[in-house]
Amino acid sequence: MRIHELKQRLRAAGAGPSHEHRVLRLWTHAQPRDSGRRRPASFFPAALMAALPAIEAELAGLARVHSAHPAADGSERLLVELADGQRVESVLLPRGGLCVSSQVGCAVGCRFCMTGRDGLLRQVGSAEIVAQVALARQRRPVRKVVFMGMGEPAHNLDNVLEAIDLLGTVGGIGHKQLVFSTVGDPRAFERLHRQAVKPALALSLHSTDGARRRHLLPRAPDLSPEALVSEAERYAQASGHPVQYQWTLLEGVNDGKDEIEGLVRLLSGRRGLLNLIPFNAVEGAGFSRPEWARCEALARTLKARGILTKLRDSAGQDVDGGCGQLRARAETLRRGGQRVALPQRAAAAAHPRG
Ligand code: SF4
Repeated sequence: MRIHELKQRLRAAGAGPSHEHRVLRLWTHAQPRDSGRRRPASFFPAALMAALPAIEAELAGLARVHSAHPAADGSERLLVELADGQRVESVLLPRGGLCVSSQVGCAVGCRFCMTGRDGLLRQVGSAEIVAQVALARQRRPVRKVVFMGMGEPAHNLDNVLEAIDLLGTVGGIGHKQLVFSTVGDPRAFERLHRQAVKPALALSLHSTDGARRRHLLPRAPDLSPEALVSEAERYAQASGHPVQYQWTLLEGVNDGKDEIEGLVRLLSGRRGLLNLIPFNAVEGAGFSRPEWARCEALARTLKARGILTKLRDSAGQDVDGGCGQLRARAETLRRGGQRVALPQRAAAAAHPRG
């Protein structure tokens, strides 16, 4: 279900704008129908009251927790089952953050990511995206929503932007606290500029060398790193939110001096933050995680060269599954196959967007 279809259904059942607003607010905030001062029976028209149980049941069935995996750092990974049995991952982050999935699978096929291995299976509908937020709010408060879970949001723009519009209005999430993450796509840049609710932008950069980036992200749009950074900057100026540049650190691939020089060249004087995220093992990916001390040294060097840099470890390091890995493992079990064997550290998030 999409949000505009839900709104049409509410209108068809006799809802006026204030009734629609209240139903959507209750849903997005995971509150029961009788919360608030005004009793539902005196506020909603009788026809809408009669239709609400079926609509609410459908909304509740959009997403349910298949399994929950709390971690020592306060994060919790959820394997979420959608109404048709497909599964995606959401991650409750410390300090009120939530990472949601926008697609089942992904067509970009980044070489270091488990989600991209099966290609795109289907889009996640706008109501299913918001349902991930409602589900998370049943467990704890959510004040920030990042679109860094499974999928490339730029490949599901209508649904993602519709969800962002709702979350940034009745959903009560600040616009800067909505983070649209992308490998960089001209269609996404163009649409973001036209948004009334302008989210912050996270750009998955991973290399300043065009050929290396094309190799790592084989089906990302063929824009040079220079063009990507300049598009991102243009949006940062328009939205007023600094860009987050995401960088998965791969040992011996993009952790060398050439990339440091490239980053200084590309990002000096820009309105952005570079997030360095050491890679977490994905079976068969053929990449390694640099030693932590080396990552720290890189971050120090970049800071000393004037680049605002944060070294981040993915949330849920001790959880048995990362972005795409929980789902892959569950699918293997569902098909009666062998458990996907991952080393201890592979339990951590593999997603490059942090
Ligand atoms: S890293 Fe993101 S964009 Fe790349 S394949 Fe995985 S989900 Fe898709």
